[in-house]
Amino acid sequence: MATFKEFRNNVKPNWCPGCGDFSVQAAIQRAAANVGLEPEQLAVISGIGCSGRISGYINAYGLHGIHGRALPIAQGVKLANRDLTVIASGGDGDGFAIGMGHTIHAIRRNINITYIVMDNQIYGLTKGQTSPRSAEGFKTKSTPEGSIESALSPLELALSSGATFVAQSFSSDLKQLTALIEEGIKHEGFSLINVFSPCVTFNKVNTYDWFKENITNLDTVEGYDSSNRIQAMTKLMETGGLLTGLIYQNKERKSYEDLVPGFRQEPLAAQNPEITAEEFDKL
Ligand code: SF4
Repeated sequence: MATFKEFRNNVKPNWCPGCGDFSVQAAIQRAAANVGLEPEQLAVISGIGCSGRISGYINAYGLHGIHGRALPIAQGVKLANRDLTVIASGGDGDGFAIGMGHTIHAIRRNINITYIVMDNQIYGLTKGQTSPRSAEGFKTKSTPEGSIESALSPLELALSSGATFVAQSFSSDLKQLTALIEEGIKHEGFSLINVFSPCVTFNKVNTYDWFKENITNLDTVEGYDSSNRIQAMTKLMETGGLLTGLIYQNKERKSYEDLVPGFRQEPLAAQNPEITAEEFDKL
């Protein structure tokens, strides 16, 4: 069985020292090992942004895609390679701005992949512009007078779109983050894990200390029922989305793969290896 070290490769990440994305990378590697995967059983598909580099830093199949398109690629990879564990990843700009349409529809489709968003509330790669997750009033070079748009609430949106697994963590909490990624991988359906992953270079507001002061950790909330969607929505609204842990899981709803007729059967060519191209066309 592979250890987490076997999910490392010899590419040195060029993230800034202290960037939250280092912990996300470590958590994916640990979670993959903990659930018993071998590197050749995992694919990590990423979008564009600092976080998008992650697919190159993990010893597994990987594809650094195009902006906002990690999810269409990841879904295609999963449908064509049913036995692979597929993780899609990217930043809040990638997944909640240009890629938002894909995010919502992947949630609705409930394909069995895990989507990890490194949410730093800013565009880091392009040197610090306001993102859809930046708070109202947030000042950057693109909004020097403060953002006049409200911040998107992706987890509330996910819940209202029929999500079956919604979790959130903080890159400082490697133990919780690793455990949530393990649960996401094991979940039969689409799992969304949003990670507060501070950009230490450009976001001087949403820092490690700021998150530590403002986050409510569900692991410490007595009586919270993660199978209750109304409770999940209420808790998110009460905390302004600053909530970590397993927020919601629906184990009853079937995945896309379970619902597509014949999908679980062997492909036709495998069922009948002797079939000719002409016979196949007539089917
Ligand atoms: Fe991380 Fe920000 Fe540096 Fe990008 S610019 S690597 S998000 S700290």
